[in-house]
Amino acid sequence: MNIILLGPQGSGKGTQADLLAKHFGLKHLSTGHLYRQALAKKEQAALKIKTYADKGELAPDKLIIQLIKNHISDANIFDGFPRTLEQAEALDELINIDFVIELSLSDTEAVRRISHRLECHNCGAIFGAEKQPKQKGTCDVCGSKIEQRADDKPEAIKKRIERYHEETEPLLEYYRPRKIVHKINAAKNVFDVFTDLKILIEKHSAL
Ligand code: AMP
Repeated sequence: MNIILLGPQGSGKGTQADLLAKHFGLKHLSTGHLYRQALAKKEQAALKIKTYADKGELAPDKLIIQLIKNHISDANIFDGFPRTLEQAEALDELINIDFVIELSLSDTEAVRRISHRLECHNCGAIFGAEKQPKQKGTCDVCGSKIEQRADDKPEAIKKRIERYHEETEPLLEYYRPRKIVHKINAAKNVFDVFTDLKILIEKHSAL
């Protein structure tokens, strides 16, 4: 099974992808997290992506598609990929998509959530107003330092949400004719959104 989660920054794609990956035995593939891991190792492609990420811009499709190709498995849940038509077409060459799920959230709530968000550099765990770390500044999962991301500053957040509406939201129309597109209200709390997602996936699959 392959699932794509689409939604603006702050809609909880990372948190829900993580929960769903564990529940359904999928590989959680986040291009944002893969990029930050590669950046920590100072990989050339990641250094190039950083010049776009720091400005809140999308990185070139070629670099992002290569990043995904290096990590894709038989059953995946995609978070933050695809974000452009070129990426969606490239993914179609690699695997069959079973679900495209839109996590819908207003821009105001997206900005509010992101401005509270902290992320672990090491394992990618995400903390926010709803999920505070047990010890301030420290990741509950691996004990590394958690911080606000450079691109989670107000100007970059606004730009990323604009990019989402302009370039990523139209992908819903690309997938719609296949009757695999679903919508979930992401304004609810983490547990309720997860429950809604599980029910939806179980209802529409032969699991
Ligand atoms: P994220 O953590 O998903 O917000 O990703 C951080 C940054 O990495 C983005 O602002 C982009 O610059 C870049 N990036 C991640 N995924 C993609 C993608 N699918 N397409 C283009 N750029 C991406």
